[in-house]
Amino acid sequence: MKYVSTRGSAPVLDFEGVTLAGLANDGGLYIPESWPQFSHAEIAAMRGLPYAEVAARVMEPFVGEALTPERLRELTAEAYGRFSHKAVVPLVQLDQQHWLMELFHGPTLAFKDVALQMLGLLFEEFLGRRDEKLTLVGATSGDTGSAAIDAVAGREGVEIFMLHPEGRISDVQRCQMTTVLAPNVFNIAISGSFDDGQAAVKRMFGDEALKGTLRLGAVNSINWARLLAQVVYYFATALQLGAPDRSTAFSVPTGNFGDVFAGYVAAKMGLPIAKLVVATNVNDILHRALSTGDYSAGVVTPTAAPSMDIQVSSNFERLLFDLTGSGGTRDGAAMAAQMAGFESTRAMTLTNQQRAGAAELFTSIRVDPDGMAQAMRRTHENCGEIIDPHTAIGLAAAHQVDLPGDVPVVTLATAHPAKFRDAVERATGTRPPLPTRIGDLFAREERCVSLPGEYDALTAYILDTARPSAQPDA
Ligand SMILES: *Cc1c(COP(=O)(O)O)cnc(C)c1O
Repeated sequence: MKYVSTRGSAPVLDFEGVTLAGLANDGGLYIPESWPQFSHAEIAAMRGLPYAEVAARVMEPFVGEALTPERLRELTAEAYGRFSHKAVVPLVQLDQQHWLMELFHGPTLAFKDVALQMLGLLFEEFLGRRDEKLTLVGATSGDTGSAAIDAVAGREGVEIFMLHPEGRISDVQRCQMTTVLAPNVFNIAISGSFDDGQAAVKRMFGDEALKGTLRLGAVNSINWARLLAQVVYYFATALQLGAPDRSTAFSVPTGNFGDVFAGYVAAKMGLPIAKLVVATNVNDILHRALSTGDYSAGVVTPTAAPSMDIQVSSNFERLLFDLTGSGGTRDGAAMAAQMAGFESTRAMTLTNQQRAGAAELFTSIRVDPDGMAQAMRRTHENCGEIIDPHTAIGLAAAHQVDLPGDVPVVTLATAHPAKFRDAVERATGTRPPLPTRIGDLFAREERCVSLPGEYDALTAYILDTARPSAQPDA
């Protein structure tokens, strides 16, 4: 399998190459040259298989020759063996039509573990093979950071610098990152928003001077391997609800458009998906883009669902690229021009072709803080289930979407409620306990530096701190 950049001018890479590269050097994101197709029979043959085996089958065509089928299976078994639930991603029924896909049984209690546990193993595999070192840089709105840190702490050949917006993530999220004292882990609290952190990280990937000194890798969902691991759970869940003979709809609490884009990939591969609901909070750039074509970044409003407090959704570019060009040919030059316009004005209008293409599968719903709190309260009252604020946005949207009564609607439960205990307690009156394996989290020592969000200060710190062994020539 070959991967091309959404902006059309970066080198074509294989799976190993895109895993280590992160952002393409023309500023675009890597995407498979074409979508592999699964037949009805191939999908039906996955029914009843363990999660790790479904993962290997779904990932195999994308991995190509980068891993043998046996090695791929060893890695999926290892990655998903670390989950605390035997089903890895269990499905919970709420009522006749609604289900929760519980994605939070990994080590850091958010869905990002599903992808990052796999990515950590892929990094170690590919770097060991090349005898190379990698410096990961990332910006987090909370959950990516802890999941990425857990996935690479103490691993050979990798170090990680993680930026988070100071004071804008939950105490559990912060401590899950800052209490990891492994020598290859560096936490940076920046004054500013998640978008400021993400903009700085994006700039680092285009900074030739920095890249001349450090080999930079990405853990944000701009990394293709991460998205790929997320495609798996759409298959695993739909199979349980009757795929390939029946369609399923998914409601996805969305921030950076990574998780829901993985659903689009599953549909492109042949999985019958009735609808993908893009659920946003009041930071609703995606809702505006999908409903009116207006993709313009506003100012981030902090909410109780901080992992969705995003105004610029990086992965949206992958969808827009897949929907450009005449006859589905994709057009990197047109995409580069469209994104250049966006980067200079922070606004762009989707083409009619992009709007029509997106509307075939996606719909979007914006949920305000009342709707979110009400979803937490009702789910607790009606089903005895405690859900987190992000999941609540997805579930509120799932109840608003217009679908035939016989289509099952699965809401992605993206975080464990204990990660956002204050917001959950406000809405439901119940304070979810921390799972026992992290019960002592607040007693652990923290390590973190605070820096202004300015680019030069950040890169100076990273260059000063990066371990010499991570530099290509050392
Ligand atoms: C990251 C995250 C999201 C948003 O996912 P994207 O892939 O960025 O759209 C939603 N909920 C939780 C709990 C998250 O951690």
